[in-house]
Amino acid sequence: MTGTVIRVFGRYYTVKYNNAEYMSVLRGRIKKDSQFKLFSNPVAAGDLVNFSIDRDGLGVIESIIDRKNYFSRKDKLKGKEDIIAANLDQVISVQSFINPHFNLRFVDRILVRGVSAGVKVVLCVNKLDLAEKGETDYIRSYYRDSGLEIHFMSALSGEGIDVFKETISGKRSLLIGYSGVGKSSLLNRVFPGLNIKITEVSESTGKGKHTTTNVQMEQIDENTELIDTPGVREFGIMHVEPHMLGAYFQDFKKPSMKCRFSPCSHDHEPDCEVRRLVELEKIHPDRYISYLNILYSLKENLENMY
Ligand code: GDP
Ligand code: ZN
Repeated sequence: MTGTVIRVFGRYYTVKYNNAEYMSVLRGRIKKDSQFKLFSNPVAAGDLVNFSIDRDGLGVIESIIDRKNYFSRKDKLKGKEDIIAANLDQVISVQSFINPHFNLRFVDRILVRGVSAGVKVVLCVNKLDLAEKGETDYIRSYYRDSGLEIHFMSALSGEGIDVFKETISGKRSLLIGYSGVGKSSLLNRVFPGLNIKITEVSESTGKGKHTTTNVQMEQIDENTELIDTPGVREFGIMHVEPHMLGAYFQDFKKPSMKCRFSPCSHDHEPDCEVRRLVELEKIHPDRYISYLNILYSLKENLENMY
């Protein structure tokens, strides 16, 4: 049988098949497969799996069907790749203007991962009713030419809610946002009656503890699915060589062809067109600083590997 993984809770998986849900575990040989050792958890929400049901009604996942795509981050504690969700239409980074104030460096990391994973990223900034003058322009100019789709909205006033609804309808989306940005308020506004409460689950407290992956996919209507990731506060990037980082900044791509060096890390090299555009403020200086910040963290990762 082929089912869809809708919940991951540690080593337990809920598989949905024909509108029924089966608590499942992994067949031993999947765990031994060498490529799975690279991941902190080999199965993710959104995975299509072949599974069987044993006499006690417990599901046993036999194999994972090839993924269309998957979205992952670095599991800091184990140094492995943590797959958050698979087979996505898009990732929605939900932020707010205040409480908490938006953090575009965090969005940049999600965007790099999205571009490298081949998954579209959309930025939704909530609490527009509380935006300071100039903040929407700031965000737009920060992402000029980056290819990022941006929407502003308010769950309170309703402004921009239609676009939010349109953005998520008929798709499978992964929502990433700190607690308090208004995810629950937005979803309840768009789908009244569902009474969705996105609950915060603390990821891991004491040092050395394992990160507990706890991800859940909700079927909102026939064609709309939302995957929530409570507690994703940090976002480490893997599998990007430092000198390739610029390729994942779409706004740097065209100018980089005019850099004297190729590849150019746009950091120290002479005659760097990206740096020239930053000085002219055609590329937002804050976006460039965010780039350097990721660049240095990638270089540090490399150093720690050897
Ligand atoms: P979640 O943790 O992301 O699910 O956030 P909630 O939906 O629980 O909202 C957190 C707080 O922000 C609540 O007190 C909401 O009333 C408030 N809030 C949510 N959306 C808006 C908005 O658009 N404008 C304002 N002013 N407050 C909002
Ligand atoms: Zn350059």
